[in-house]
Amino acid sequence: MTDFDDIATLLAHDDDLPGHAIVPPIVQTSLFIFDDYAALEATFRGERKQPIYSRVGNPTVVAFEEKVAALEQGEAARGFASGMGAIATTVLSQLRAGDRLVAVEHIYPDAFRLFEKLLRRLGIETVYVDGRDTQAVIDAMRGARLLYLESPTSVVFELQDLATILDVARNADVTTVVDNSWATPLYQKPLTLGADFVVHSASKYIGGHSDTVAGVVAGSMARIAELDDLTYPYLGAKLAPFEAFLLLRGLRTLPLRMARHQASGLEVARWLAAHSATARVNHPGLREASGLAGSSGLFSVDFQPEIDIPKFCNSLRLFRLGVSWGGHESLAFPAMVGLQQVAGPNSLRRFGVSDRLVRLNIGLESPSDLIDDLNQALEAASQ
Ligand SMILES: *Cc1c(COP(=O)(O)O)cnc(C)c1O
Repeated sequence: MTDFDDIATLLAHDDDLPGHAIVPPIVQTSLFIFDDYAALEATFRGERKQPIYSRVGNPTVVAFEEKVAALEQGEAARGFASGMGAIATTVLSQLRAGDRLVAVEHIYPDAFRLFEKLLRRLGIETVYVDGRDTQAVIDAMRGARLLYLESPTSVVFELQDLATILDVARNADVTTVVDNSWATPLYQKPLTLGADFVVHSASKYIGGHSDTVAGVVAGSMARIAELDDLTYPYLGAKLAPFEAFLLLRGLRTLPLRMARHQASGLEVARWLAAHSATARVNHPGLREASGLAGSSGLFSVDFQPEIDIPKFCNSLRLFRLGVSWGGHESLAFPAMVGLQQVAGPNSLRRFGVSDRLVRLNIGLESPSDLIDDLNQALEAASQ
């Protein structure tokens, strides 16, 4: 399934829902009951399929997991209470003391902290490489257990050559995880390029309405079975039925929203690239041969020294100040603030992010209104 129309139909349509409903119901229950002893026994023996307990199998959550598995062209998926739940449950299912993990620089800051704090304490060393340097990634992965990729990364938007890297990793027997939150399955399908796991912060584009924190991982049956066996039931970062309902609702409009985020994001990015206050725009969609089938609405800008960054932020009217992204509303987040964050090791400082950088999430507003807003804020902030 590569075609936009096929995806739109998959997301708009459900068959055979209980009670002839058009939308999967929110099955708000902790446990499921059995007709008799034989049914209970057969289910526990694995001979009969029925949900037992919502920590590991709730029908609303399963409906969401099936949609994401189909979108990513995987065989199975698991929903989580957060993107970090999905990431932690996936990497912990693969690693043991003494293993080496290779990750690209500029990965999501809390993934970096997970690797630097918890994994390090468990005796797992993480090595970071410049993901743009394909040969460096290939060299670093030799002898590693796991390779963790995020293409593009979500502050400086550096891309990896996923097709080449995933192919080499497969032949070298290195397990691969790709964070695909930025591109969404519409614009990039890492499993089809040979990735073992694809993870998402569903809090971003999949949810799409800035009203839920959730995550998901997709892969083959065999790979997801490794999570079921080792981590997923025991770490307990389960997705709740109501959150799954919100995500299913968000998915219905994913193709429409992404088309708008893409068009508006490119329009605003091109306008900024032509502006004298801009030193550089970090947007994968402005690069040739990105390997992506499309781009989303999150990118960053390095401003010239004459722009007073706090004043620029305070002068914005439509753009709001905040972290996260992927929702309907446009947001700005200055790296100057991220660089000062004190909790744990700071990935922005570690990998070197400029304090002139501001990340922009282009929402669903009118792009010309957003450009007007940036224009007046840049004028107000010019020194
Ligand atoms: C937000 C984010 C995460 C973490 O997801 P949560 O849902 O906040 O736990 C992981 N990766 C990327 C790229 C993100 O932006």
